[in-house]
Amino acid sequence: MTDAAAKLPPPHLGEPWLLTPGPLTTSWAVKQAMLRDWGSWDGDFRAMTARLRARLLDMLGPGKKDFDCVPMQGSGTFSVEAMLGSFIPRDGKTLVLANGAYGKRIAQTLDYLGRDHVVIDKGDYMPPRGDEVARALADDPAISDVVVVHCETSSGILNPIAEIADAVHAAGRRLLIDSMSAFGALPLAPGKLRFEALVSSANKCIEGVPGFGFVIARRAALESARGNSHSLSLDVHAQWDYMNRTGQWRFTPPTHVVAAFLEALEAHAAEGGVAGRGARYARNRDVLVQGMRGLGFETLLGDRWLSPIIVTFFSPAHPAFDFTRFYEGMKARGFIIYPGKLTVVDSFRLGCIGQVDEEVMRAVVRAAGETLAEMGVDDAAPPEAALDERARLVA
Ligand SMILES: *Cc1c(COP(=O)(O)O)cnc(C)c1O
Repeated sequence: MTDAAAKLPPPHLGEPWLLTPGPLTTSWAVKQAMLRDWGSWDGDFRAMTARLRARLLDMLGPGKKDFDCVPMQGSGTFSVEAMLGSFIPRDGKTLVLANGAYGKRIAQTLDYLGRDHVVIDKGDYMPPRGDEVARALADDPAISDVVVVHCETSSGILNPIAEIADAVHAAGRRLLIDSMSAFGALPLAPGKLRFEALVSSANKCIEGVPGFGFVIARRAALESARGNSHSLSLDVHAQWDYMNRTGQWRFTPPTHVVAAFLEALEAHAAEGGVAGRGARYARNRDVLVQGMRGLGFETLLGDRWLSPIIVTFFSPAHPAFDFTRFYEGMKARGFIIYPGKLTVVDSFRLGCIGQVDEEVMRAVVRAAGETLAEMGVDDAAPPEAALDERARLVA
C-alpha cells in the first residue's frame, strides 16, 4: 500500500472513496483535527487564522507580498460572490468567460448584483482563448473587469489561463479568477500571470472539509474595495480590515473546519506544496484515463485540455448501459462517482483529487470493468454523436 492509501480510512469503516471534486476524501488526520472545540475569540484560534492566511499566501510564490488572503465563511460560491461584489465597481462592466456551469453561475451572480456584464459563452467545454478575449476588450472600451474559471469543473477542462491573463493585462483591464478547483494543485504565480484576485475553498485541492472559502487579492484592490460591496456578510474589504485589526473573523468562524484545514495544510506542505500535490493528481489522472480507455471508454477532452482535477467520460452507447445502475455498481464497490453535466450527450465524471492515489485509481478502473460486466455491457464505446461532438474541439 502506498503512503496516501495507508493513511486512509479503509472501506471496512464503511466509508466510500469520493471521486468527486469536493467534498472529497480527506485524511484521517484531517478528520481527527475536528475532535475538539475552539473559542473563536481566544488567542489560540486567532493564531490559527493567522497561520492559515500566511500559508495560503505562501502558495503564490514570488510576488505574494503584494497580496493578502481573506477567508470567508460559507461554501465556495459565497466567496465567488464576495469577490465579485467587492472588487467589481458598481458602475463597472464585466466580461465573463463561460464554458460550463461555474462560468454561468458567475454571470448569474452578476445578474443578482445588478452589475453590467457581457458573456462569451463557449458552450459545454470549448476553451475561451486569448485572442478572442483581446478582440472583445478592443471592441468594448467600457469593459473594466474580466472573470474566468481556472479549471471548469463541469467538464474538467483546464482553461488557458496564462494567455487570457496576458490579453487582459495588455488591454489594461483587471482579471478575477475562480480557481476553486485548481488552487493548491496548479500554480497561479503573480510573477508569471497578472491578476487582481482569485478565489478557492477549503474542500478542494487543499483537501480540507467544507465550510469556508478564501479570496486572495492584491492589497491595492483590497484597499479600493472599501464600501463597494452589495452585502454586509460578503464584504471582503470589511472582513479583511476587521481580521487585520482584531485577528478574528467578523461573524462565527467555522472553528472545526479551520482546525482541519491547518492539518490539511501540513500535509500539503509535506507532499511538496503545489508542485507535489499537482504531480500526484496528474498521476491519478494518467492512471485513470489510461485504464478507462483500456476498457473502451472515451474522454470528452483531448489530452491537451484534460485537467488533473476531474475527467469527463462519455457514457457507453451500448443499450445495456444505464447510469443509475453503473453508479450503484460503483458505489457497491466503494466508489462514489459524479454524473456528467453536458447538454448534448450523456457522460459521467471521475475526480482525481482528495486523498486518493494511483493504487486507488487502479481499483476504480477494476470496479468500472466489473460493473460493466455485471450490466452486460461488452463495449464501452460512446455513441457516434459524442465523437462528432468531440471532433469540434480541435487540438
Ligand atoms: C466547487 C466550485 C465552486 C464552488 O462551489 P460550492 O458548491 O459553492 O463550494 C465554484 N467554482 C468552481 C470552478 C468549482 O469547482
